[in-house]
This record gives sequence, structure tokens and C-alpha cells, in this order.
Amino acid sequence: MAYVIAPEPIPALPVLGTADLFPVNRIFCVGRNYADHAREMGHDPEREPPFFFLKPGHALLPEGRDFPYPSSSRDVHYEFELVAAVDKAGTDIPVEDALSHLYGYAAGLDMTRRDLQLQAQKMARPWDVGKAFDYSAPCSAVAPASKIGHPEKGAIWLERNGKRVQSSDLSALIWKVPEIIAQLSKLFRLTPGDLVFTGTPAGVGPVQRGDVLHGFIEGVGDLRVRIV
Ligand code: MN
Repeated sequence: MAYVIAPEPIPALPVLGTADLFPVNRIFCVGRNYADHAREMGHDPEREPPFFFLKPGHALLPEGRDFPYPSSSRDVHYEFELVAAVDKAGTDIPVEDALSHLYGYAAGLDMTRRDLQLQAQKMARPWDVGKAFDYSAPCSAVAPASKIGHPEKGAIWLERNGKRVQSSDLSALIWKVPEIIAQLSKLFRLTPGDLVFTGTPAGVGPVQRGDVLHGFIEGVGDLRVRIV
């Protein structure tokens, strides 16, 4: 048996310091997982637990490639985030086992067509057009947990054209990585190759063509993306 059309290539990220690739399946994202960002978006982090949304794996933009500004939006925002990479399937994963389901970590951007997202939100429609568009998930190489461990604290920052626009610490995550994995696995069977974007700190804002974004996560790595 053969496919009647050529399948799309499997999206993948380099594994830091190797010639190997990490194949990407789905991209899960956590909303409002830093208290300061929840507040800047007009929400009370104490009363609203974080929630999940998805991007397709083919929204991945591996490091080294430019981000093409989409013609359908006039307000594309950056959201810089710690990314966890799943390598072991699981459903209803207990918090204490969660880290054993992770291959490693990366630095990612949850690029957002804010105008389309807010419009959808206002009309009680899905977020897909605002969040799940092509190239909306730029991501660095994956750093294996066998080398870097499981980061619980450390600086996370983003510079736009050399100016620091987001700055926080991983310890400020409202829901920690094991809790996110446990919770997510109650809603979806996690599979090898799933990426989980863990939420962004305050300071989100717009990009323009010609901008260069440089994000850094202590102990994980960094990511540079040019907006074209
Ligand atoms: Mn986000």
C-alpha cells in the first residue's frame, strides 16, 4: 500500500549539541501561567486557573528560520516561553511521575495574531485564527533533560531589537511543569513528540517586519528570530 499523495514532512527540532532531530507531534500551550501576564491581560490570576489551547505541529518554526509576518493581521505579538518536550506517552499521569515523560526543554515563541484572538474572544469563538496559524511556534533546539536536568528556576527574558521587553524567572510559573503535564494528560493522551509551551511572563507586545527577537532561558538555551 502507498499513500495517494506525498505526506508532509514531519516537523522537527535539532537536539542541542548533536546532529539528531526531535520529531514534533502536537503543540500544546498554557494560557496565563505567570501572574504578572494574567494581570496585564485584565485577569485575576488568583481566581482563574490556567487553561490549554493547541497549535498544529506544522506551525513549528525551527530555529534559524525567519518568521513571515502574516498578511491577515495588523497586530502580531511575541510571547516568549519555556517549552517542555514529551518523549513518553501517558494518560492521567501523576504529578510525581510527570518529569519522567519529558525528553528535555527548549525556548519558544507563542506568536499571536492579537487582533484576531481578541476578536474571536469577544464573539465567544475559538482562538485558532489568533494562535494556531502557520509559523506561529518558533522554537530553539531541544536541550535533553539528561544533560540540563529539569529547570525550576532561572532567568527567562526576551529582547526586541536589543531592548529587554520581557523578564521574569521560571520560579514565577503559577502551574509548575509537572503539574501542567499531569493536568494536560487528564485531557489528552500525551504522545512522544508533543511540545508544551508553558506560558509567558508580562511584557507581551507587537512586532514589525525587520525586528529581531532574542530570547534566553537560563540553563536551557536561547532563540533568535527575525521578522520578515
Ligand atoms: Mn502563550
